[in-house]
Amino acid sequence: MSKENSDTKLLSLVVSAYNEEEVLENFYNTSKKVLDSLSWDYEIIFVNDGSIDKTYEIINNLATSDKKVKAIHFSRNFGHEAAMIAGIDYAKGDAIVCMDADLQHPPATLPQIVTYFESDYDIVNMVRISNKSAGFIKNITSEAFYYIINVISDAKLIRNASDFMCISGRAANVLRKNYREKIRFLRGYVQNIGFKKINMEYMANERAAGKSKYSIKKLFKFSMNTIMCFSDFPLRLGIYAGFFAILMGLIMSIYTLISWAKVGTPNGYATIIVLICFMFAVLFFLVGIIGEYISILFAELKDRPIYIVEDMKNIEDLNLNN
Ligand code: UDP
Ligand code: MG
Repeated sequence: MSKENSDTKLLSLVVSAYNEEEVLENFYNTSKKVLDSLSWDYEIIFVNDGSIDKTYEIINNLATSDKKVKAIHFSRNFGHEAAMIAGIDYAKGDAIVCMDADLQHPPATLPQIVTYFESDYDIVNMVRISNKSAGFIKNITSEAFYYIINVISDAKLIRNASDFMCISGRAANVLRKNYREKIRFLRGYVQNIGFKKINMEYMANERAAGKSKYSIKKLFKFSMNTIMCFSDFPLRLGIYAGFFAILMGLIMSIYTLISWAKVGTPNGYATIIVLICFMFAVLFFLVGIIGEYISILFAELKDRPIYIVEDMKNIEDLNLNN
């Protein structure tokens, strides 16, 4: 049964996959069942983010047997966000949904998402209401991250918004043209470009198979970058530290003068050592923060590509200069 006629809308499902050989076929079968039941036509764009297992072969086999499956293979691992950006760049849909390949983002939510797009919503923020498999540390750090970013930045991010993203074609155009930063936080941008949006809750599943690709170290780096992309507050810490040091200096001077008047020259060796250690610690910390911002500036200045495509299937090259 073909749904293709001129009025039928197209849904692009973007799926990033990094070493997901254990789960890809399961994902394809599960999502295809749901997609076939929709009134929209669809394409499934698998972005292989430089996998070193059988992901390449599995995606190409799916693309050979099903023309609705499109394959983009990166030349190396560029990261989950780069994979989503590539999928969005190449997607032809009136609406685009970015999903993980591990079935943590349930394809069963797609009919409701499509209903929102039919009601002219541009962005459906998918809010995770449970993530049993994430573990205690990941949940706590994720809470802390959203708390900090919302306090120190102008941009307001919804807590537990996942990178399960659903955007209309015109919202995607904004991302394609105007958000080509090398250090970025895609889901933050999606929440801050405006347009008509709605939140939809979903229950995150356990990972269907395979292992999580995000280590705590990777997540920490990612969180630091995000805070710096959305706020210049850390840069201002230097000024606050300066004020604090002036205040402490004044108090110490007054104290020294008084004790000099009362008991003669004060013996302040220990105080000096503590103060020097403390001041240097603050100073190095601030230099480190400036260094982080410079490294972001440097990455933007070098303007290297966000991703490099090595090979594609069922999709034509856009010759993008990303
Ligand atoms: N992923 C990717 N490139 C990476 C790391 C992950 O494309 O460098 C994909 C991965 O295949 C999965 C999604 O991003 O489809 C989410 O990754 P994962 O499930 O490992 O993260 P978690 O759900 O544990 O946060
Ligand atoms: Mg996952």
